[in-house]
Amino acid sequence: MSSDLLIRNVRPYGADAVDVLVRDGKIAALGAGVAPPPGIASEDGSGALLLPGLIEGHTHIDKSLWGAPWHRNEVGPTRLDRIDGERAWRATAAHDSAARSLALARDFLAAGTTRMRTHADIDTEIGLAHLHGTLRTRGALIDVMDMQVAAFPQSGLTNRPGTEDLMDAALREGAGIVGGIDPCAIEGDPVRCLDATFALATRHGKPVDIHLHETGEMGAFSLDLILQRTAALGMQGKVVISHGFCLGSIPDRDRDALLARMAKLDVAIATTAPASAPVPMLTACRAAGVTMFGGNDGIRDTWQPYGRPDMLDRAMHIGLRNGLRRDDELDWVLECVTTAAARGCSFSGYGLAVGDRADLVLVDAATVAEAVVVAPPRRLVVAAGRVVARAGALV
Ligand SMILES: [Zn+2]
Repeated sequence: MSSDLLIRNVRPYGADAVDVLVRDGKIAALGAGVAPPPGIASEDGSGALLLPGLIEGHTHIDKSLWGAPWHRNEVGPTRLDRIDGERAWRATAAHDSAARSLALARDFLAAGTTRMRTHADIDTEIGLAHLHGTLRTRGALIDVMDMQVAAFPQSGLTNRPGTEDLMDAALREGAGIVGGIDPCAIEGDPVRCLDATFALATRHGKPVDIHLHETGEMGAFSLDLILQRTAALGMQGKVVISHGFCLGSIPDRDRDALLARMAKLDVAIATTAPASAPVPMLTACRAAGVTMFGGNDGIRDTWQPYGRPDMLDRAMHIGLRNGLRRDDELDWVLECVTTAAARGCSFSGYGLAVGDRADLVLVDAATVAEAVVVAPPRRLVVAAGRVVARAGALV
C-alpha cells in the first residue's frame, strides 16, 4: 500500500522550489505552497533537486555477481571469448541468478532507479533458468520497480538449434521483449536470424531489442536489414538498437542516412558508452531526432568487473564518452537515464507531471549538471508513491 505524502521544498530539475503531493501512488499536485490535506505525512525536501525516478535502459542483472565473492577475470580479448568463457563458468559455478539479480536490483532502487530493462540469457545449456531468476526478482520488487525483461539469446538464436523454441517458451512465460545479437558476426546468417527474431516478435506481439556490436560496414548492413523489417512489419516505435557501434564507425554521410531512417521509424538506440568501442554520438542522434538512452550493460559479471547500480554515475560516463561538458549538454545526458529512456523503452506514466506515477528522487545538488557529475547519495527515493530509500540506503 502506498500512503499519501507531501514533499515540501524541492526543485524540479533545479527550477524554483515547489511542493509535491503524492496520492494513491501518483503525483496529485505539484506547485508552490500546496495546501497539506489534513493528517498527511510530510517530508522536508530542504531545497533538494527533484528528478523523476531514474531508468536503467540496458543491463543484465541475471548474470551479475553483485554481492558474491570477487570473481577473478581471466577472459580472452574477443566477444566470443567472453561468451564462451561465461558458458564455461556457468557450467561449474552454480550461479544463483535470483539472489544475485535481487541484490543488484535493490541497490539500483536505493540509488533511485525505479524502471529497468534487463536482458536475461536464454540458451540451450541454461534453458530458462536465468529468465526464471530474473522474473523472481521482478516479482519481489513489483510494487516499487517497473522491470522489463528481454529474452536474450546471448550465444545466438538460429546458429544454435533449440534456442528458438526456448525463446518461444520464454515469451510465453513472462519475458516481454525479444532480444537479439549480432546477425552477421555471431549468428552467421543475418537474414535467417532476423526473420526468426521478428517472427517471434509478431507471433507474441512483443517489441525487439537487438544488441548490435558489429562495427563498420558489417553493422550497417545488419542495421539496414533490421530497419527493412521494422518498416515492413509496421513495428515503428517497437525496436531498439543496443550499442549500434556501426553508427560510430562509418562515414558521417552513411551514418546520417541510417539515423534519418531510424528517426522516421522511431527506432531508438541504447548506449552504454564504453570507452573501448566506437559509439554512436549523442549529438548526432539528437540532431537526427533519434532517441538515445543509457544503460550500464553488465555489472560485475564474468564479462567485465566494472559498473555501479547508479544511473547518475552512468550518465556521467555517457557525458564523458561523448565529450560533453556544458551544463546544457549535461541536461541531455540526464535525459538518457530519464525521459529519453522512458520514451525509448515505452515506459508509461513517467515524469514529473500531475498524474504521473510518483517515482521521485531527491538529490543534494544545485543543478542537474552537478547531480550528474557528483552523483551524491540519494537523499530520498519514492517509488510508486512509497518512500523506499533515505540517504542512499533502502528503508
Ligand atoms: Zn548488453
